[in-house]
Amino acid sequence: MMPEVYKFGGASIQDADAIRRLGELLTRHDLRPRALVVSAMGKTTNALEALLDAARSDDTHAYRERLEAIRQAHLRTAEALFGADSTTAAALERLLDDLDADHRHCNADYPIHYDRTVGFGELLSTTLVAAWLNEIGIATHWCDARELIITDDHHQAAEVDWTETCRRLVELAGREEGLLLTQGFIGATVEGVTTTLGREGSDFSAAILAHCLDVEGLTIWKDVPGLFNADPRRFDNARQIARLSYGEAVEQAWHGAKVIHPRTLAPLQRKSIPLTVRSFLEPDAVPTRIGPEAGDGDRQPACILRDDQVLLDVTPHDFSFMDDARLGRVLACLAHHGLHANFLECEAMRLRLAIDDEPAKRQALLSDLREEYRLECQAGLTLLTVRHPSDLLLHGLGSGMTIVTEKRTSTIAQRLFPSEECPERWRLP
Ligand code: ADP
Ligand code: ASP
Ligand code: MG
Repeated sequence: MMPEVYKFGGASIQDADAIRRLGELLTRHDLRPRALVVSAMGKTTNALEALLDAARSDDTHAYRERLEAIRQAHLRTAEALFGADSTTAAALERLLDDLDADHRHCNADYPIHYDRTVGFGELLSTTLVAAWLNEIGIATHWCDARELIITDDHHQAAEVDWTETCRRLVELAGREEGLLLTQGFIGATVEGVTTTLGREGSDFSAAILAHCLDVEGLTIWKDVPGLFNADPRRFDNARQIARLSYGEAVEQAWHGAKVIHPRTLAPLQRKSIPLTVRSFLEPDAVPTRIGPEAGDGDRQPACILRDDQVLLDVTPHDFSFMDDARLGRVLACLAHHGLHANFLECEAMRLRLAIDDEPAKRQALLSDLREEYRLECQAGLTLLTVRHPSDLLLHGLGSGMTIVTEKRTSTIAQRLFPSEECPERWRLP
């Protein structure tokens, strides 16, 4: 079996110091992964989304300003690492010129334009990281994920062509001896049109490499020591999980535990490849291990918060049932507009859904449903999902706050609260 695949996210390469720390991590701990998958630096993907908005609304002033900010952030990092006028800076300039040129001539539909634009974040970051690793003596081969991760043309949420992707990755690994370094998040159709795997999709990219290269493990390096039973940034007394099964990890990720992208687990599970979540800030801290067997994390309650939720009540105009056929049509309409029900409850004549607050998508959904249904929306909500809930925990969480709606099954409890009533930091009872 080949050595591991590592994935480094935006925070771990956010500036020159962070990139130096990544290099030190590999050298000081004598780590020898087979491949690295790297995200865009810091919040570059958000900056590229804003750039795209400016380009599509023909706001030239905002566009120039935003492009310049992205340019400066990358060139500053290159200068701090390699000094003035380096070949790396020249390579970044070429990419930034391509990004700009792509915009000037792009009349494509939004999803195609989106993928072409935001993919530059990873192209820029990997150019910097690969150059730095070579500089410090780690022989690194920069690979273009658009020639490796082959997908369909479902832009912004592309599906992987596993056969072709595996063929190309295995061929590359047989040919190149050095450390393979590629972009997370992006791929391309077989015709070479850039696609993306969905926001936060670099974890999934790393799992694709791990699966196709049949490695002995995938390690995702984070700014937290591992997976916790609640987001440690938002819950005072969150506890780290030592071990959990792929299945439980999928459940938590699916309900919105931001630390791992939900699509990451399946490719690993299919080959029983263990996943380690480990801290790049404290590499010696005990990590979380995810694998085929159940662990402590499979039994204990876990809490997941999702902000910016809109509760949508859908009621047929004609006093008819919300039967399976209607339910199917409403959910298909939701999926058609790129929305997903984070909370769902069906009564005889009413469907209640909570969706992410994405106004353009919601308007399109509502206008499709309006003819047949009475629609009521309530925005400004936070969804709390508890896996393996206990009465004690539910009693203590959110006590004294307004519960807009709630539901409970044997494995999860969900509650929607007005966000303005939610505490800055929560406490697990
Ligand atoms: P990356 O950019 O490397 O993909 P993310 O920001 O996506 O990193 O994920 C790391 C963050 O996930 C942490 O900073 C933490 O605040 C958050 N997080 C949310 N839920 C959890 C959880 N259950 N356990 C650990 N971290 C969590
Ligand atoms: N850069 C992409 C994003 O911010 C992918 C990732 O970081 O996983 O969504
Ligand atoms: Mg992430």
